[in-house]
Amino acid sequence: MKSGCCLDVPFVNLACADSELVGAVDNAIRRVVESARFILGEEVETFEREFAVYTGATHCIGVGSGLDALHLALRAMGIGPGDEVIVPSHTFIATWLAVSHCGAIPVPVEPSLPGFLIDPLRIEAALTERTKAILAVHLYGMPADMDAIIALAKRHGLKVLEDAAQCHGAYYGDRRIGAHGDAVAWSFYPTKNLGAMGDGGAVTCNDPELAERLRRLRNYGSCRKYVHEERGFNSRLDPIQAAVLGVKLRYLDGWNASRKRLADRYRQGLADTALVLPEVPAGNDHVWHLYVIRTTQRATLTEWLANRGVQTQTHYPIPPHLQAAYLDLGHQRGAFPVAESLADEVLSLPMWPHLDDAAQDHVIAAIRAFAR
Ligand SMILES: *Cc1c(COP(=O)(O)O)cnc(C)c1O
Repeated sequence: MKSGCCLDVPFVNLACADSELVGAVDNAIRRVVESARFILGEEVETFEREFAVYTGATHCIGVGSGLDALHLALRAMGIGPGDEVIVPSHTFIATWLAVSHCGAIPVPVEPSLPGFLIDPLRIEAALTERTKAILAVHLYGMPADMDAIIALAKRHGLKVLEDAAQCHGAYYGDRRIGAHGDAVAWSFYPTKNLGAMGDGGAVTCNDPELAERLRRLRNYGSCRKYVHEERGFNSRLDPIQAAVLGVKLRYLDGWNASRKRLADRYRQGLADTALVLPEVPAGNDHVWHLYVIRTTQRATLTEWLANRGVQTQTHYPIPPHLQAAYLDLGHQRGAFPVAESLADEVLSLPMWPHLDDAAQDHVIAAIRAFAR
């Protein structure tokens, strides 16, 4: 039950972004309707070109979702039945599902605390002669340690796929995430830093053959109508979503700057509380898809905040290895203790580019009152 408070702070509010864009988005959608080109075509090609330029990759292939981007990228790399793919133990389940959809086996590797990202130092011990690829996830908006991961992959002859569903626009070194590994998979799910008004996804890469194979795989295994070189899928970025994304891409850097400012305000406002705040190692970029704190009192804090009109979420409450979907892999509770303790302790605070200072101050004050 909510006690008399004046401010409601939702976890995320997409309507704020949409009101900023309303005219431009209407025009983009009308353009698609008037073109009557509803599958692939110019709108999709234009966005693919713009997103490739933005990410610094040579190629961009628009697909139906982030999960499809991951799945088709692994297939295009030749991952198949019996292969093993290194995945983080702490991630959204789609990372693992993509591996399973190829008939391959996800092999979890723990993160290094206090961070949330896969620990490159622990990867080597998980490699077998069946390991074919490393799937690194730039979780919550911070790029994984790609230099170490790519060096390790080179040493062992492995492919590297990046799950960039949460880090549109982030830099790693002097280049944006987009083509450090062999391929990068993106989601345009509406709440992501770059989100469509429905499902959408893409793969970026620099390898023309990989790009060509992805164009086939998303389109029934065909590049020429009714000629099928392999057994493909139907997973194409929708032209209406491509048009919307083209409008939103122009705002992405500004929105990410706003997220960074809000993360800074959380850091200052919550610095002397008992919460474990997210750390960004020197030299790292972070585009704050989520602002995730850790606390051993998550259930009581969540309820305390809800009672004060503050919505939070948990990303994610059950690690993939303990999900019913992965019972058959036989992982027991205790097998990945870091992921399991993160699942118990992580809490995501309200974060979206148009969150205003007064609302955020209310969140900060409510947390401070809890800690007192
Ligand atoms: C959102 C997300 C996905 C899946 O993207 P969809 O477009 O929802 O299929 C995959 N991995 C991570 C880390 C995500 O956050």
